Amino acid sequence: MDVRNCKRCNKLFNYTGDSKMCPACNKEMDEKFFEVRDYIYKNPTAPMSTVAEECDVPLQQIKRWVKEERLSFSKESGVTMQCENCGKSILTGRYCKECKNVMTDKFTSFYQEKKPEHKSSTQSSNGKMRFLGN
Ligand SMILES: [Zn+2]
Ligand SMILES: [Zn+2]
Repeated sequence: MDVRNCKRCNKLFNYTGDSKMCPACNKEMDEKFFEVRDYIYKNPTAPMSTVAEECDVPLQQIKRWVKEERLSFSKESGVTMQCENCGKSILTGRYCKECKNVMTDKFTSFYQEKKPEHKSSTQSSNGKMRFLGN
């Protein structure tokens, strides 16, 4: 059993490999997430450091949420993340659209070998970004 100190409250907890915080702090962070999301929604131009300060959440945690695509900042906030593949500035997630497309293509062609035709998709995957636009 791997027991560690919680990064946040320093209590001992069973480390499972996916979080450096104890379950109680994780739960609290989950609640914080909504606070942060709300704050960003109301203050779309606030930089990440301000958000962290105002919501009392570590910057690293906010970055983590952004990487998980749970949070995204607007262009106006000046917050940028970098694509982990090509280094391009992005607003959310870990990879830019182009890299994502390439990865999805590889993924799909790997699993759907030799299908005679694929449906042309007209769907927009933009629902998440629209939230930021207004
Ligand atoms: Zn804790
Ligand atoms: Zn990229």
